[in-house]
Amino acid sequence: MSTPHKGFNTICIHEGEVIDEQFKGAISPIYLSTSYAFEDVAIKRYPRYFNTPNQEALSKKIALLEKGEAALLFGSGMAAISTTLLAFLKQGDHIVLQRTLYGGTANLINEEFEKYGIDYSYVTTQDPQGFEAQLQENTKIIYIETPSNPLLTLVDIQAIATLAKSKGILTIIDNTFASPVNQNPIELGIDIVIHSATKYLGGHSDILAGAVIASNAHIDTIFQLGKNLGGSLSDFTVWMLERSIKTLGIRVKQQNENALLLAQWLSQHEYVQNVYYPGLPTHPDHALAKKQMKGFGGMLSFELTEQIDASQFLKKLQLIKSSMSLAGVESTMVSPHLTSHALISQEERDQQGISDNLLRFSVGIEEYDDLRQDIAQAITQLTV
Ligand SMILES: *Cc1c(COP(=O)(O)O)cnc(C)c1O
Repeated sequence: MSTPHKGFNTICIHEGEVIDEQFKGAISPIYLSTSYAFEDVAIKRYPRYFNTPNQEALSKKIALLEKGEAALLFGSGMAAISTTLLAFLKQGDHIVLQRTLYGGTANLINEEFEKYGIDYSYVTTQDPQGFEAQLQENTKIIYIETPSNPLLTLVDIQAIATLAKSKGILTIIDNTFASPVNQNPIELGIDIVIHSATKYLGGHSDILAGAVIASNAHIDTIFQLGKNLGGSLSDFTVWMLERSIKTLGIRVKQQNENALLLAQWLSQHEYVQNVYYPGLPTHPDHALAKKQMKGFGGMLSFELTEQIDASQFLKKLQLIKSSMSLAGVESTMVSPHLTSHALISQEERDQQGISDNLLRFSVGIEEYDDLRQDIAQAITQLTV
């Protein structure tokens, strides 16, 4: 049925659906059965085996969106990340990761890997040479996350994929921040793509989910461990995620547009001193962003000048919510030094360039003018 020629929004809406043969309803029916008639096959249908009708259909949709052969859905982004990493690593192996990782991923590595006897090294620079310098005889995986949180720095995906291929090392990317709308790493040579579907794929701040997209062979390896660990996604949530993905393309397009306009406006503002957005020509990775991204995304960060206290500023916002999660249709803003990066030392925050006045802005789909005016009025309250 599926052809590789369908466009993104068409796939969002029409591919990977459960067809309602019985009533010809317009949308996928939801199958909540945990028990299916035995069909004389090696693996029967069971939610923990990732193979209910809704799971299979949505996995196909997500695989098509990321241009991979197959996908698996998980109960959270972290379930997807932990299952994938442990599926390919064993005692005595080594993994190279970029330093600026999602906090939960860093916690998984730092708190759990030692007891499995898995060795790891962090790369503090963005350049491929920095990754190459950390490789060892027993390195099995290079793991990247681009654009990174919260400063939106980029890693050259194709360069990392080429480096890893030349050494027979597996590559994994956390593509959550870009979403499949803005970046398709499999096209650039990456082996495995992971999403926290809690973010852009879900997009409405109401579901927790994860997804992994890769070749059939890699997905089978992840499946083998996944069925034992038991982190699959409930079919209710699968159904909600399918519904959410129908508007993924148009949501993210609007978020890209709003974020670019806001980044441009903020960078001209007298009370703003630094704006971090890959779509700005002043961003150090702008050329790379143009090369590997189709849009620059809905996440940006900026620093207020010293006259304004960032936490006071957040309290003055009326439309933009001050909240931790990201990628919803509503705009949210947080101070990384008080939230996502509160547990790391001041010294390390300084090293990573995370100042006390830095704000991370997850741009929603509201009207640009309303978002701009909300920021402007909050600044005015604190400066006149
Ligand atoms: C939120 C997030 C995760 C973790 O996903 P959960 O769904 O919260 O488990 C992983 N990576 C990135 C980049 C995220 O933003």
